[in-house]
Amino acid sequence: MDLGLENKTVVVTGGSSGIGLATVRACLEDGANVALCARGADRLQEVHKTLADAYGEARVFASAFSVLDKDAVDAFAIDVAERFGGCDALVTNAGQGRVSTFADTSDADWREELELKFFSQLHPIRAFEAMLRKSDSGAIAAVNSLLAYQPEPHMVCTSAARAGVQNLLKSLATELAPDIRVNSILLGLVDSNQWQKRFEARDDQEQSRDDWYAALARKKNIPLGRLGRAEEAARALVFLASPAASYITGARLEISGGVSRFS
Ligand code: NDP
Repeated sequence: MDLGLENKTVVVTGGSSGIGLATVRACLEDGANVALCARGADRLQEVHKTLADAYGEARVFASAFSVLDKDAVDAFAIDVAERFGGCDALVTNAGQGRVSTFADTSDADWREELELKFFSQLHPIRAFEAMLRKSDSGAIAAVNSLLAYQPEPHMVCTSAARAGVQNLLKSLATELAPDIRVNSILLGLVDSNQWQKRFEARDDQEQSRDDWYAALARKKNIPLGRLGRAEEAARALVFLASPAASYITGARLEISGGVSRFS
């Protein structure tokens, strides 16, 4: 299927690793120009070089900053406009989860987590809204988590924030229509840096990577029996961000190997 991304411009936040990087690659494979950001300048520079070598310098633009820095996000949008002449799709992916129970989460932690989850969406959406409206296929594809509907006791704060973000995205799907479609993916467990870090900190340092991941999939009762791959999440994001999803807005797509327990 032709997704219709040829010569479109896609912006991916958190594009230097995991799901974001897989999304960047998939968009480039489909002929889009891509602008990506992340905080860590060294890794971003390395990724930019690899992508520019593979797909051509002219099609990739990378900038290092935090999506929580509103001025930096606004400056990025101006740079993207200058570089590519506009933006057709925005993938809001940057972020990370917080592992803590209610008892473990201080008020300052709550503020930090709510800021991360909400403003990692709000800043880029505000910065790119005008360009997305001008596109004939403006779309936002947001990364969210099953935690929005299925909270976990060890991720109380992240779960609550995810639920709020899902609610926000639904409102935006109405307010930004018909110019911009707004959809989300709800992730279960996807093998990426976040899980690699937890694997490295495992209790039994003798346990192999395969065994640790298989045990995790069993513990979480994932019907497909394994964690997802970054590319599998990316394919869903790219579809929702592309003109191929032209009649889909306000939708959520689960990428979870069947682990959700809500309808
Ligand atoms: P990774 O850690 O592999 O990638 C996260 C990316 O986001 C990196 O490029 C990171 O770069 C960037 N990033 C993080 N914070 C910021 C920030 N404030 N500003 C700009 N860039 C930032 O993780 P994943 O690929 O797994 O995660 C992608 C998204 O999916 C995240 O939002 C995560 O919370 C969410 N998610 C993932 C799940 C999973 O199982 N993997 C489950 C549920 C949700 P840098 O650190 O250099 O800024």
